[in-house]
Amino acid sequence: MLKLLNRQNHRQHDKRLVIDHDLCFSCGACVAVCPPDSLFLLDIHLTVDHNTCTRCDRCVAMCPVHALSLVPEEPLHHENGV
Ligand code: SF4
Ligand code: SF4
Repeated sequence: MLKLLNRQNHRQHDKRLVIDHDLCFSCGACVAVCPPDSLFLLDIHLTVDHNTCTRCDRCVAMCPVHALSLVPEEPLHHENGV
């Protein structure tokens, strides 16, 4: 039930975590605070699993160089149907 409520809440916010790779220096601080382990450092390249990210904002607040942000997701349907 809690998972269902959380999912509905996420859909309301419709946000997506974006990584600015020009700013990220691969310190791993965000990885350490992510509750569902959605962040990974592959070599020095930070990646996020959008399927498990709960948009909790912890990593965004933790990053010392503001390389992470939660931004509104693009609409699923565009005029050209893509
Ligand atoms: S927003 Fe939360 S769940 Fe998503 S990657 Fe950041 S810490 Fe993890
Ligand atoms: S906390 Fe910021 S600088 Fe450190 S790995 Fe995460 S995004 Fe990169």
